[in-house]
Amino acid sequence: MTILLKGTAGSLSLTPSIRKKLGAALGTFSMIHDGDRVMVGVSGGKDSLLLLEALLQFRRYSPVSFGLAACTLDMTGGLFDVSPFRSFCESRDVPFFLRQYPILDIVKSRNERSPCSLCATLRRGILSSATAEEGYNVLALGHNFDDAIETALLNLLETGRFRSFQPKIWQTRSSVWVIRPLVFASEDAIRDEAGRLGLPVRKNPCPYGEDTRRKEVKLLIKSLGTVYPNIRNNMMHALRSIDGADSWRDRTAPLCHESEESADDREH
Ligand code: SF4
Repeated sequence: MTILLKGTAGSLSLTPSIRKKLGAALGTFSMIHDGDRVMVGVSGGKDSLLLLEALLQFRRYSPVSFGLAACTLDMTGGLFDVSPFRSFCESRDVPFFLRQYPILDIVKSRNERSPCSLCATLRRGILSSATAEEGYNVLALGHNFDDAIETALLNLLETGRFRSFQPKIWQTRSSVWVIRPLVFASEDAIRDEAGRLGLPVRKNPCPYGEDTRRKEVKLLIKSLGTVYPNIRNNMMHALRSIDGADSWRDRTAPLCHESEESADDREH
């Protein structure tokens, strides 16, 4: 089911295409229910800031009543200037929470081959815990369409499993739902929209941010797209049907229900 979202008065209304993608994800995966208290993980990147703005606009006209707050995780342990996000939240009357952990130091000291996997797991765990500690029951993250298919291809190439993060998943340790309402919106559309709305996007302070395996996969998909124009949509279709009739799963074996994903699901 797709939830149709109405626009808001004023120049800051979301474009219809982004509203449509947001509504499709919220409806298809039944992400938000009456009485939910939703914490948006605001990294300061375009995706998470647009997600917060989009959910605010959705809430103004939605028949579903839900609480909304934002939490920024400062991965430098206190050196990252979060004042633009705090001001943004204050201007929209959204409670703002801050967690400071030296994740980047931890990642550096571990010298992992895939620092992003460890980092993403730590960040998700800290944000999930913060959500529960502050009295919220849903954590909303800003992963987009391109994040989803890049993660799937990365996993296919490195682990032999075509899998990505889930649009909606239960976190057993913290007892919160994690939702990703922008999974149908492309990175390009989000970048354009965040720019158009003048959101206070900040550069990620991570030293690993420029040259990662993900960048290679992004280029690979772009290159394949010149020969197979529908590859991005086809990959999304494959992701959504992997557990359906196309699956080669042994039907006599019990299904394995996973509550937390292990996929490298970086989002900035
Ligand atoms: S690039 Fe992003 S996911 Fe990777 S280590 Fe840095 S902050 Fe973490």
